[in-house]
Amino acid sequence: MGERRTIYLDHAATTPVKPSVADAMWPYLNNHFGNPSSIYRIARESRNAIETARAQVAKALGAEPGEIYFTSGGSESDNWAIKGIAFANRKKGNHIITSAIEHHAILHTCQYLEREGFAVTYIPVDQYGLIDPADLERAITDTTILISIMYANNEIGTIEPVAELGAIARKHKIPFHTDAVQAIGNVPIDVRTQNIDLLSLSAHKFYGPKGCGALYIRKGVKIDNLIHGGGQENRRRAGTENIAAIVGMGKAIELATADIEWHNTHIRTLRDRLLNGILVTIPHARLNGHPEKRLPGNINISFEFIEGESMLLWLDDEGICASTGSACTSGSLEPSHVLLAIGLPHEIAHGSLRLTLGDANTEADVDFVLEVLPKVVSRLREMSPLYKGGKEENSNV
Ligand SMILES: *Cc1c(COP(=O)(O)O)cnc(C)c1O
Repeated sequence: MGERRTIYLDHAATTPVKPSVADAMWPYLNNHFGNPSSIYRIARESRNAIETARAQVAKALGAEPGEIYFTSGGSESDNWAIKGIAFANRKKGNHIITSAIEHHAILHTCQYLEREGFAVTYIPVDQYGLIDPADLERAITDTTILISIMYANNEIGTIEPVAELGAIARKHKIPFHTDAVQAIGNVPIDVRTQNIDLLSLSAHKFYGPKGCGALYIRKGVKIDNLIHGGGQENRRRAGTENIAAIVGMGKAIELATADIEWHNTHIRTLRDRLLNGILVTIPHARLNGHPEKRLPGNINISFEFIEGESMLLWLDDEGICASTGSACTSGSLEPSHVLLAIGLPHEIAHGSLRLTLGDANTEADVDFVLEVLPKVVSRLREMSPLYKGGKEENSNV
């Protein structure tokens, strides 16, 4: 018997490290172990490797290398941007604007700052998860010190009008941060033309290692430090650098940017085949997020009369790795804040499935899911007391 087949469709949660990325990292886990802050040759080699990675990240964003600061990942970058700007501008004002559909690394940081005396406006989104730039402009007050709106949503894949939102922030001279963790490698980014002052990214979302990210901080932006200690990262982020991971991230972002067109076409083709197949074979299903303004690999779909969690267990049994938006990791029964923000009723939000495709997925993967998923959905519906009611109401199904 061969090894059990695994079909990985959870690339929004994390991506596998590309072999060439792992190869680039290996020397820095092996004999190139010098502490970059020291003065001998092997330390210089580490230092040079970090600066090469910094240039690679800067190039991918259209930034200067001196504007890139390495962190431990997307969550730290988000925390640093929000808290750092808030505390550095406390004398100017206490008002922060963000959206209702941000990642918890932003939302929970904002809630923490509310307890510290800051005021936060959470801009709502429309049924597709889009922010209306007019809503942003209306929310700005004399005391607004930061605007943070994500580039692309991790659950429903909606891509926000970032350049336009950034232009509004610029007009009002307010720093504009974007959580671009899901966007890198999927959407071309240029911090200059898109009016971005701060940007968070995370290597493990674009085929790099976990526990490594960066914050782009435009030159001249006033921001406090988050991690205090040694003088690393131009005295702005203390701690001995995670050199192997930083080297891996540099390589990964270079590949992700170079491959962006191939990646987009490949993934969008598979995504559309999967999505159309689901919508054609499974009744009472609806796509969440924007039909066009969405990440190429993202499908988020709600099936009426089912629990997302049960669906995941049955799919896992078939070797399919997927995710649900129905409950947060804490195991609470609250549906996802994103699905509620786009107006889904609780019971529909509970039956949501997120499938996110990646570089290594194939047509065979998609066809296997299309074979398995309709059976899983109909078996679960047969077990659901709610569905009987649904059938009576929709006797044509
Ligand atoms: C994954 C993710 C994060 C967190 O990044 P980590 O590197 O896992 O800390 C933040 N924002 C978004 C949109 C994400 O998808």
